[in-house]
Amino acid sequence: MVVIMQVTPCEILVNYTIQQALFQYYRCAGDLKYGILAIKKSEGSVRYMTTDILIIGAGITGTALAREISRYDVSCVVIDRACDVAEGATKANSGIVHAGYDAVPGTLKAKYNVAGAAAYPGLCRELGVPYRCCGALVIGFDEADEATLRDLLERGIRNGVEGLRILDHDDVLKMEPNLNPEVHSALYVPTSAIVSPYELAFALADDAALNGVVFRFDQPVRSVEKTDSGCWKVCTDTDQYECRAVVNCAGASGAEIHNMISDNPLEMIHRRGQYYLLDRAERQPFEMTVFQCPSRMGKGVLVSPTVHGNLLLGPTAEDIGDPLDTATTAEGLAEILQKAGRTWPGISTRTNITNFSGIRAHLTTGDFMVGPVSGCENAYEAVGIESPGLSSAPAIAEDLCRMIAGEMKWQRKDDDRIRPVPAREKAFSTMTAEERSEMVRKDPLYGNIICRCETVTEAEIRQAVRRPVGARTIDGVKRRTRAGMGRCQGGFCLPRVAAIIAEETGCSLAEVTKDGGNSRILAEPLDAFLKGGGDCE
Ligand SMILES: Cc1cc2nc3c(=O)[nH]c(=O)nc-3n(C[C@H](O)[C@H](O)[C@H](O)COP(=O)(O)OP(=O)(O)OC[C@H]3O[C@@H](n4cnc5c(N)ncnc54)[C@H](O)[C@@H]3O)c2cc1C
Repeated sequence: MVVIMQVTPCEILVNYTIQQALFQYYRCAGDLKYGILAIKKSEGSVRYMTTDILIIGAGITGTALAREISRYDVSCVVIDRACDVAEGATKANSGIVHAGYDAVPGTLKAKYNVAGAAAYPGLCRELGVPYRCCGALVIGFDEADEATLRDLLERGIRNGVEGLRILDHDDVLKMEPNLNPEVHSALYVPTSAIVSPYELAFALADDAALNGVVFRFDQPVRSVEKTDSGCWKVCTDTDQYECRAVVNCAGASGAEIHNMISDNPLEMIHRRGQYYLLDRAERQPFEMTVFQCPSRMGKGVLVSPTVHGNLLLGPTAEDIGDPLDTATTAEGLAEILQKAGRTWPGISTRTNITNFSGIRAHLTTGDFMVGPVSGCENAYEAVGIESPGLSSAPAIAEDLCRMIAGEMKWQRKDDDRIRPVPAREKAFSTMTAEERSEMVRKDPLYGNIICRCETVTEAEIRQAVRRPVGARTIDGVKRRTRAGMGRCQGGFCLPRVAAIIAEETGCSLAEVTKDGGNSRILAEPLDAFLKGGGDCE
């Protein structure tokens, strides 16, 4: 059972003693399994929360793990420094479910990539997340590249990837006629797929929340310490958490959190990848994802369709000092055009609608680290989760949860206590005319198109805010519904989306942000002006 006690300032004095007593009881008993207890300290604004397990990081790894843990009879809280799910690398990557030909056999990357990719079709079907097995080509331009392709073929076979084969010049061009005719050969990867990474993370979070996991945002972890009673105390700017077990899924800050937990420091390199995203109006040059030969720095620049029909070009691979520096640069973007232009001679960025970048969390060991933190009881981690981390997440989560549940001796919930995620409506933009009429008949808000570029309706935006882990920001709505994802990038729909968020959440327009923090859309006086009906005095 999960119990959350929400306390208002006037309740604190009344409830403080009882809650403090319960808190002490759970702590002394060393058994927090009865639920989550929120306690607000009377002297100040720090809130205390106890839980069986605390996950740091709500990216694809943390949300997949939370969903696995929600199948057990324990309380679980996920905290993230950002204002929403998937604000780290999970929102800014190539969205490829790699088949598993690239990872060195015997590594955790190889093990989890292949197992994770196998789980994808079923998981995405169950959660209603866009996924398409479009296949991939890794192309080479000379004999030396062909030798690399043969190494990849060999690795893939050893990793258990099926259907791989080397194609010669003519066969490659038959498959993808818009490729550079100078192509020499290619590795054909029929099981490579594409997915919407952040939509999967949202769906995993919703499923976990429906099954009792609590998500809390704007919670940057500042310290992690062991308490005298053997629990972990995790402090953020505003809150304190006491938990029996802690899991570090903090992506690019994974080493920083590891070093708060352990005396054996980890070193991480932050490797930025920049992209071009072209409009859906751009004619798709390729059916498949097309990579060039990989290098020491990564899988190389790709040209790939996305599940929503856009075209993605990138990423670069630049080592940078700051794990939060997701800027794009003129040099980086020029490099993409030059490299992607070698794959696709007809390259054009006339329909470019945005550029973005993500940060790879590269450990100097070169492999993922998944499992208990060495020498630290009841602390676990999934760190160094760079590519193929998206592909691997379902398998990492399952394995890590199995390890934790075994060590903590957790009981699995009976199947009838697992709440399935309700089936998601098809996006209005993808419905037939008859389906659209039927939806408008059932709910007239489907008749109000808010985002014209992507045909997103008011009904869909309101649903995005009302989801179990609902959107609270303009970008949160954008990633859940695609409102603002089109060629005008929100120029038309942004004020309408902001107004719906304000109405649904009961905040003022001036409090609505683009993506949390200080990214407000409106200045306060304008908010008051609009509320007053827009009349100037
Ligand atoms: C350019 C690029 C391309 C990629 N392409 C692919 C691909 O095509 N296929 C593939 O399989 N993989 C790919 N990857 C890798 C994949 O994106 C990552 O492995 C995956 O998203 C990692 O997920 P995560 O949850 O571990 O980390 P993240 O998504 O980064 O999540 C970590 C979370 O922790 C939070 N956090 C960090 N510090 C703190 C703190 N102090 N307190 C609280 N919260 C904190 C962050 O806000 C974030 O939400 C790519 C990565 C990049 C950067």
